[in-house]
Amino acid sequence: MFTKNIDYYFKCTSFFYFEPLAALIDMDGTLYDSMPNHAAAWKEMMAEVGIDMPLDEFFRHEGRTGADTINRLFLKEFGREATEEEAKKLYHRKTVLFRKHPDPLTMPGAARMLETLKERNIKRVLVTGSAQSSLISRIDSDFPGAFSPEMRITAADVERGKPDPLPYIKAMSIAGVLPFQSIVIENAPLGVAAGFAARAFTIGVTTGPISEEELYESGAHVVFPSMNDLADKLPILLDELKTHRRS
Ligand code: MG
Repeated sequence: MFTKNIDYYFKCTSFFYFEPLAALIDMDGTLYDSMPNHAAAWKEMMAEVGIDMPLDEFFRHEGRTGADTINRLFLKEFGREATEEEAKKLYHRKTVLFRKHPDPLTMPGAARMLETLKERNIKRVLVTGSAQSSLISRIDSDFPGAFSPEMRITAADVERGKPDPLPYIKAMSIAGVLPFQSIVIENAPLGVAAGFAARAFTIGVTTGPISEEELYESGAHVVFPSMNDLADKLPILLDELKTHRRS
């Protein structure tokens, strides 16, 4: 079912086999249906400083750290980066606006996907550019036992966020695995690009306005139309990843 995708991965990386030992998993838009709230909070916060932006644009910044996003929007609108103080203040404002929205639900299929990984003894690492503590602290109650406390990379742990591969490279290092032992699960183009650059087998999932094509163009080795669909097919994908060799 996935041999074409796996061959494409071998072609991209020049690896000749794959050993699924760790899954490096994004949070927003992947485990939680939180992106509409994030995008709305970003839009509201930027409107307060006089920047009017289409809602969809924030989905394309997804994965960046807050400061990186703010700097880019400032550069575009004001021709300069934000000061450290401005960035801190504005990101804080964004987190306050985010919390005003109803709590986002977990993504249907996410728990089932994590169960399959657990059953197969595949390590799980949470890799998020977010510093939104309201959501990060919900992980343990929403997905009990899915991520041990040391298996988490958040905005505070990396100097450079996605699309830089650093968050995923760091995740590999804490899981003690190599790129050909790592699966990245992402919903955003910049997150997919980070997984690709880290040379992991990169799964894209469309859970918002970003199209399947856009995720393939960003470097996904396979794209699923929903987390439920990924959860359905993950056992087959894992079996094929384990057994398919480069020809
Ligand atoms: Mg995401």
